[in-house]
Parts: sequence; C-alpha cells; structure tokens
Amino acid sequence: MKFKAAKSRSVVIKKGQTTKRFKLYVQNEEIPSIVTSPIKCLGRWFDASLQDRDNIKNLKQQVEEGLKKIDRCGLPGKFKAWLYQHALLPRLIWPFTLYEVPRTTVEALERITSRHLRKWLGVPPSFTSIGLYGKSNKLQLPLSSLVEEFKTAKARLVLTLRDSPDEFIREAGIQTRTSGKWSATKYVSQAENALTHKDIVGVTAVGREGIGARKVVLWSRSDLKERRARIQSEVRRAEENARQARAVEMGAQGAWTTWNTADRRLTWGDIWKYEPFQFSFFLRSVYDLLPSLVNLCRWGLTAEQKCSLCDRVGTLEHVLSSCSTALTQGRYRWRHDLVLRELADLLEKERKKEHGNHPRHGHIAFVKSGETVKTQKPTKASILDGSRD
Ligand SMILES: [Zn+2]
Repeated sequence: MKFKAAKSRSVVIKKGQTTKRFKLYVQNEEIPSIVTSPIKCLGRWFDASLQDRDNIKNLKQQVEEGLKKIDRCGLPGKFKAWLYQHALLPRLIWPFTLYEVPRTTVEALERITSRHLRKWLGVPPSFTSIGLYGKSNKLQLPLSSLVEEFKTAKARLVLTLRDSPDEFIREAGIQTRTSGKWSATKYVSQAENALTHKDIVGVTAVGREGIGARKVVLWSRSDLKERRARIQSEVRRAEENARQARAVEMGAQGAWTTWNTADRRLTWGDIWKYEPFQFSFFLRSVYDLLPSLVNLCRWGLTAEQKCSLCDRVGTLEHVLSSCSTALTQGRYRWRHDLVLRELADLLEKERKKEHGNHPRHGHIAFVKSGETVKTQKPTKASILDGSRD
C-alpha cells in the first residue's frame, strides 16, 4: 500500500487559527494544506474554518438558487410545487443530516420556500403554512415542511449512530450536535418516552371503533427496524401536534378545526385535474381567504359587511351556500339548471321524431343453415331511436 499525499490534507493550527505557512511532506511529496484545497469526504466538505459555517452558507445558496431555477422554468405553478417536493427537497436532506445547521436557519429557509409555494399555488402571502404542510388538516396537500424533514433527518442520524451494528461506532461517543436550543438527542429520547408511555396506556379505541379492532405492535416487542420507523413517525407526529395547536389559536384560517367533515387528502393526481384558478379558489375557500363581504370589511376595503340581498352578515358560508334570498330565487342552481334545460330541449326534439322504421332493440335476425348473410354496415344508432316516450 502506498501513501498518496495528493489525496490527503494537512492542517496546521497556530494560535487557534489554521495556517498554510508550514508545509508538511511525506516521501518527499507535499501534503496539500486544507486552507488552499478543501476536501470532500463521505459527502461532507472540510475546510480551513474547521466549522460548518461555510457549508451552511452554501446550503442556503443551494436552496435559494434551486427555488429561483424552479421559478424561472415557465411551467404552471402546480408543477413548480411538484418540483420543489420531488427535486429540491430530497437534495437537502443529506446536508441537513451532515452539517450542524441551526434550527433558526432551517426555519428561515422554510419561510423562503413557503413564500414561493404560496405564489405557485396562487394563494395570498397571508396563507398559513399549516395549510401547506399540515398532515391532519381537513385538506391535506402532498407537501413537506423543511423543518419537519430537518428534525426527522437529525433523529435518523442519532439512531443510526447509537444503534449501529458496528461496535466501534456505537461506542465512539459521537454526538449529533445541533446548535441552538433544539437537541436531536433529547428529541429522540422524548419520542422513546412517549412510545413507552403508549405501551403502558395500551390500545385505545378511536371514535366508534370496537374493542380490539386495531392491532398495535407494542414498543417493547418491536425490533430495531420497527423502532427506528416508529421513532421517526413519532417525531413527525410531535411536529404535527405543534401545528394543530397553532391552528386552533387562529381565527379565520383555523376555522376548519371545528368542522365536522371527513378529512380530504389531495394527491398529485388530484391536483393535476384542477385549473390553476380553480385550485387557488379551492384552497382559499378552505382557509376563508376569499373576498367575502366579511373579509373585505376586515381588510378595510369596504365598510359594509351585510349581504345586499338579505341583510345578514356576509360570511363565506353565507355567500357560498346559505343566503336565504339567493336560495329562494334559485341563484345557486342557476348555472346547473341551464345545463339541464339544454339537455331537456335535446331530448324533447328526439322524442318527437318519427322512429317507426327503426328496428326495436333486442331484434335478432336468425340465419337458416346453409344460408349466408350479407353483412351490412351498422348505421349510427342512438339509444333514443327505439323509444316513443
Ligand atoms: Zn344573503
């Protein structure tokens, strides 16, 4: 085996600072200094600062440039949101895992991505981030929050190092450091405590579930792989709980927390079917951000928040479905009824036509043995041809 100087790096620290003044040699070959040539090892960059400061700066730049690139691609907004979820986000998970990124930095990055996502989905800047990333909302979008992915990545790293099959790694005492108040190790142990607690509580029935309707694997009996998966989902659940707690505190945009309807989880397939404005309307109607009379008044654009038809308060619900005057005048059905009228006209015309010559449906021309039948081109038949009523 030969020592390859060019593949190694030398670090000289003088008075607490890395310096390139001293040159180190092995077998008459100079080992490059880390000051002049940073090195990448196992997916992680090492440079003269001996910290992650520059790497974090690069990460920020990567996010900002990625978002800009997606923004300039000229596709409709929903495709841009898809690109964020499936092209940009997976690339960020690895740097999140490796570098000591402060939580505040990730939160700042999430604010930037949320701003772009709002623009792409056609919702106003005031649209809550809970609406974008919530996983137990009445309406769930297939988007992931950067902060949640960051926390899960860190928890995964803690577990990988702690429960490694390699004894040396397990006992090396590697700490997963996260600067700031948030600690990944503490988070993981909290999640484990919560899971142990669930074991003690036992299986609880939700809603109208019968006793024993759900099979639950006990924490104490799960193997290593299951435990890892459960801790990660527990980390995600804690994030979701925090989001829900914030949603309950919100007035208009958190109104859905009191709705008694089934949850709706949108897939990308569902989103492709929407026209851009239709989707924007849909999102804004769920989070009460449409220019209803009450909202216009709240935003200081009009002084009057009463419905001009019936003198009641013009909330979103009132405008969309429960104005009594509009109901009695048939305004809600108007468009629907126009379509029905068109159909009725067409059917009536068909009905009045003469249908006498056409064979009734169900008629079978039998062929005697030995005879051949001339095949006729089938005439265009309508299901109305045979009818008289
Ligand atoms: Zn009204």
